[in-house]
Amino acid sequence: MRTGFIWDERFAWFHTGLDRRPTPLYQPVPALDTRETKERIRELLVATGVADKLVSVPPVMATEEDLLRFHTPEHVAKVRSISERGGGDTGEGAWIGPNSYAIVKLSAGAVATGLSAVLDGNVDNIYVLSRPAGHHATSNLARGFCVLGNIPIAILRAQAEKKLRRVAVFDWDVHHGNGTQDAFYSNRDVLTISIHQAGNYPPGSGPLEDNGEGDGLGLNINVPLPPGSGHGAYLETMDRVVLPALHAFQPELIVVASGLDANVMDPLARMMCYSETYREMTRMLKRAARELCGGRLALCHEGGYSAVYVPWCALAIMEELAEIKSGFKDPSMDRFAAWPYQELQPHQADVIGKAAELVARVRI
Ligand code: ZN
Repeated sequence: MRTGFIWDERFAWFHTGLDRRPTPLYQPVPALDTRETKERIRELLVATGVADKLVSVPPVMATEEDLLRFHTPEHVAKVRSISERGGGDTGEGAWIGPNSYAIVKLSAGAVATGLSAVLDGNVDNIYVLSRPAGHHATSNLARGFCVLGNIPIAILRAQAEKKLRRVAVFDWDVHHGNGTQDAFYSNRDVLTISIHQAGNYPPGSGPLEDNGEGDGLGLNINVPLPPGSGHGAYLETMDRVVLPALHAFQPELIVVASGLDANVMDPLARMMCYSETYREMTRMLKRAARELCGGRLALCHEGGYSAVYVPWCALAIMEELAEIKSGFKDPSMDRFAAWPYQELQPHQADVIGKAAELVARVRI
């Protein structure tokens, strides 16, 4: 198994500044999107020896032409200009530091590089640990730590280069993948599925009813799970919604918007997943990719704000992706797995059942 891995030191240099609250009576703290949540993934992979067994793929920066397949010229000009002026908010909660324009283009380019590496057959599958994230950015608005739509930019480039037509994007970040949904809402060639905590972020975004339109009708599936959903609810969603939808659509590539913030330690959400949840979901996706598209699977990093626990979730994913046993066990897993309410609850099953009804609308 040749599993690719993309990381670049410059992603750690990306600067999100301080957490900003509209009051002077609040001691400033660093924004929750920190370099540690990414660097510590890389460090755990190195320390456990897993990194040695991965194929390191150098990211290539996205061009303005790449950006403009998805974003408006005004959006690109705004990000560049704020970067040149020394930094600021590029939208709604998407702060960048000085000279960040190069890094946001590198993050989008890393995802595009990752998709190419899989589509060209240089690796069997890949994890792109890029920063900043992208799944909240729309064509003309940066928000929620996301400046550019990394995944739409990468898919549109792969399609322009005729490497790809039909692709499925599965977003397991705990927040709704609104940017990816918007990008392909009326597109018959891209299936988008998002599992998220109902209404968490963007506020109210990602209801069951948003099911695509026009040529894309039926090809956007949202699963807005109740807060408190854990291992049982996530695996049930995989079994009843995600895997059947992928089989109905038959993509040429499966892309995962891999936010690791549905874990039980995350400060920005209230879900209960743990490392084994991610391991099992990765195993299911690998099997689906093998059955549907020659194993082609690209996981692209999004959110995840617990510096303590995100790395263990990532380690489980990488072990499964690369079929490696590092021998290092997540020290918290048994405790989290034993918490009551990890199993599927009736009110969670109600939502999953409604989402499962949407699978019948997915078509080739
Ligand atoms: Zn998130």
